[in-house]
Amino acid sequence: MKKFYIGTNWKMTKTLEEGLLYTRELKKVSEQLDHSKIELFIIPSHPSLIPIKSEIEDSTIKIGAQNMHWEERGAYTGEVSPLMLQEIGMDIIELGHSERRAYFNETDKAINKKVHAALNANMKPLICIGEKLDEKENNISVETLSKQIKLTLKGLNKEHLPHILLAYEPVWAIGENGIPADSAYVSYIHGEIRKILVDLFEETGSQVPILYGGSVNLDNYLSYFEDKNVNGLFIGRAAWDMISFEKILKTCHSLL
Ligand code: PEP
Repeated sequence: MKKFYIGTNWKMTKTLEEGLLYTRELKKVSEQLDHSKIELFIIPSHPSLIPIKSEIEDSTIKIGAQNMHWEERGAYTGEVSPLMLQEIGMDIIELGHSERRAYFNETDKAINKKVHAALNANMKPLICIGEKLDEKENNISVETLSKQIKLTLKGLNKEHLPHILLAYEPVWAIGENGIPADSAYVSYIHGEIRKILVDLFEETGSQVPILYGGSVNLDNYLSYFEDKNVNGLFIGRAAWDMISFEKILKTCHSLL
């Protein structure tokens, strides 16, 4: 049985103090989980990474950063480098979240450079892809995702593939104004993403975990979890509240 991934990106929502309180609660929950079944990860804001990393040192929770530059060093004010994130023990680097694409003009080409940089620094890129509402309405979701996959994974070979994670996050389903996606639609799209990966990388393409994210909540998480095409859940708001996150984690765990 493969591990099921469950993780959360805190975005810009938690101060260090709030993040530490949250992490202490999450540690108690994680102690009750069998980590051969669930890979649990958190993605705090940059200033919290070092203290939160030391808080989870004695646990099996994995930690990641929300973004990074692709260069090791240089005159890039406000950026952090792969070298810096590797030095503080990051497991995962989240790349290409739709908010970074929308508000910070992040392109597939830039994400691709970051993917290579993360892999070179022995950290797992968690690459976010997703179509916008008008792309869905014009029936070009799969074409859009195919383009994003081909461009963000450009230059990778089969040896890299076991070290990457993909998150399908339809832009129209994310955040406060997001419309939760129908699980049949998610299943279909995950199947199409898998076909694209297998076309590109043959058998190794079938090994890449494909997580789903976008308004996952207590009412719908099981519908995604139960789908064999979904290898993990990437959760925002419903994971920032420990009561709902604990319920999601424990229920999924009991069903694995
Ligand atoms: C996200 O923004 O990546 C996300 C999944 O958020 P939410 O679950 O709150 O829609």
